[in-house]
Amino acid sequence: MSTLASFWTQAIAWVSTHLVEPAIAFLHIAGSAGDPLEISEALLIAMLQLFIIGCIFRPLESVVPAEQWADRRLTRVDRLYTLLMLLGLFPLFSYLVLTPFANMLGSLGSDAAAQAPASSGLKHWVPWFEEHPYVLFLVYYVVYDFVYYWMHRAQHAIPWWWALHSMHHSQRQMSCWTNDRGSYIDGVLQSFILATVGLLMGVEPSEFALLVLLSELVQNLSHTNVRFGFGRIGEKLLVDPKFHRLHHMVRDPERPSLHNCNFGQVLPIWDILFGTALYGEKVRPTGVSDPMVDIDNQYGLVGQQWEAAKRFWGAVRRRAGWKLGEVSFGPDYAPIPSDEAVHLPERAHAPGLTGVPGAIRR
Ligand SMILES: [Zn+2]
Ligand SMILES: [Zn+2]
Repeated sequence: MSTLASFWTQAIAWVSTHLVEPAIAFLHIAGSAGDPLEISEALLIAMLQLFIIGCIFRPLESVVPAEQWADRRLTRVDRLYTLLMLLGLFPLFSYLVLTPFANMLGSLGSDAAAQAPASSGLKHWVPWFEEHPYVLFLVYYVVYDFVYYWMHRAQHAIPWWWALHSMHHSQRQMSCWTNDRGSYIDGVLQSFILATVGLLMGVEPSEFALLVLLSELVQNLSHTNVRFGFGRIGEKLLVDPKFHRLHHMVRDPERPSLHNCNFGQVLPIWDILFGTALYGEKVRPTGVSDPMVDIDNQYGLVGQQWEAAKRFWGAVRRRAGWKLGEVSFGPDYAPIPSDEAVHLPERAHAPGLTGVPGAIRR
């Protein structure tokens, strides 16, 4: 075993003995919590992710920022989302909800199931993959990313889903912490869809964790406030910070459909194939022009969740909430077509954008 692998195994064992097992005992959830070693691995992966964001992506924002901010006040709530997600919610959700869900579907989760020949999924359908795990992993990734692309299109097109997803877009300072900012109702929905795809393909839980980690890191970087991309060829192969920044742009009143672009999570190929890719546009301010969504910026984490839930309830119980198309929200949270809605004027951007509420030029 290589030194690195052995160090990793020892670190997992240490975290399990000193942190996870005492926590499980304290919470009295030994029956439902899953394997402490797996929880420890998830926690360590989270720490690794935090290290990469905090020690690489965050300093890059100071060195080569896409937007100059007088202060970073509005990024604080996003940092809280990331810390909560990585250190608490994701591991908890994985092992309290997703693992039992996997067991329920019967294809994964137990040791016996993991060791038995695949009874469904890609390995069952194409036994050649048994001998070619790296190709299989690549295929998993491509399918996972393809599903993500269409799910993301739906998040923008179905008004009740936009009511939730709009919280991810309501940020005014898009930074390395923004990826995990989002409605938790939306998070549960997305996780079930993506986990179901993983289960149907027959992805092992450890592979699924790696899938998620890789795409999370690409997404953390693609939200980072930096002005570089991956170059003319690289930007067609992998989503870069320029590409995703354009997805977050504020609606341009002169070109009101320009922001409906760049939905890809990791691979831009889907946007290129389905005609939603946008390249070559200058850096634009990020956020939303709908005052009923921009209001999120007046609140902390709990208030933002509540606002998104109110928009969701306003949309899901009305027929207009199910009619495909871009919407804004009326004062009673009723979805109204964006063309007919009142929008905030476009914000100025770098240099001079302060990103604080006062920076909106009305
Ligand atoms: Zn989006
Ligand atoms: Zn985003």
